Amino acid sequence: MKKINDLYNSDLTTLTHSFQDACSNKEFKEFVYSLNIKEETLIKYTSSLQDAFNEYRNCKNCKGLATCKNSEKGYRYTPIGENKIINFSYDACTKLNKELNDNKYKNNLSLFELNEEIKNASFKDIYKDDKARVPIIKYFKEFMDNYNKGNNPKGIYLYGSFGSGKTYLIASLFNELAKRNIKSTLIYYPDFLVTLKSSFQTDYAEKFNYIKKTPLLLFDDIGAENCSNWSRDEVLGPILQYRMENNLPTFFTSNLTIDELEKSLSTTSSGVDKIKARRIVERIKQLTVQHDLISKNRRS
Ligand code: ADP
Ligand code: MG
Repeated sequence: MKKINDLYNSDLTTLTHSFQDACSNKEFKEFVYSLNIKEETLIKYTSSLQDAFNEYRNCKNCKGLATCKNSEKGYRYTPIGENKIINFSYDACTKLNKELNDNKYKNNLSLFELNEEIKNASFKDIYKDDKARVPIIKYFKEFMDNYNKGNNPKGIYLYGSFGSGKTYLIASLFNELAKRNIKSTLIYYPDFLVTLKSSFQTDYAEKFNYIKKTPLLLFDDIGAENCSNWSRDEVLGPILQYRMENNLPTFFTSNLTIDELEKSLSTTSSGVDKIKARRIVERIKQLTVQHDLISKNRRS
């Protein structure tokens, strides 16, 4: 049977060999010796040092956070020597810190049933080749000036063709305001109704109140929902009433003109009620100025 000392020595020999093997890579060798840690300590950590080295190399060839290859995206497995041991920690990279800081404003936007992508919509990317957008952008500027002065300007009822960029436009305004720390909520209305309905037993009231009180609100694609008495009289009606009474700017996008919307809101599976539909539309008219965006379909 081998003595303990022999065992220790043979383990050490194996470790030394793998360390020497690893050091045949010049870059690895430079990396580990630049750590100012004694060789006898380095030898014991060859495998972890190789992991750290791989991440160091990934960082050296970094093309941005989106393509980060490290085991924890945006972090680097980093060795720190201490006498006879090496500690490894995951250090946040400067790119991650910068991106986190740059994107902090996005927390001011809440989305319901809309893709996160919409948080990237920005004024600077709005298509400039389309004159249909000019009056809307002009109104955005007025809106921002007034909002900053503490007034509560009206939102927009933006009617337009499918894919013309309605949602993108309103989102770009909300994003701009989010950078000034103004909170907003965007709901894809047809799907939001389904989610809201399924939350009767859970957080229905929370969701409802959140939407009601959010400083800026977008009802995206109103008129595309499956309209019921409940959605018209118990969801839309009270939300609009509250927002009117509290001067909370409210935006809408729709494939329907406001007259077509009125027609659509008057018919539910329970029958026709023109008066209730009229009441909703009156509230929308009080809350908004109307604009059109008829343009080519930008969807790919
Ligand atoms: P709508 O709401 O009118 O149906 P969207 O706002 O969804 O249209 O726009 C359609 C597509 O075109 C989306 O994929 C959106 O990201 C893109 N898009 C619209 N306007 C712009 C823009 N100014 N810059 C970049 N992409 C845009
Ligand atoms: Mg849309």
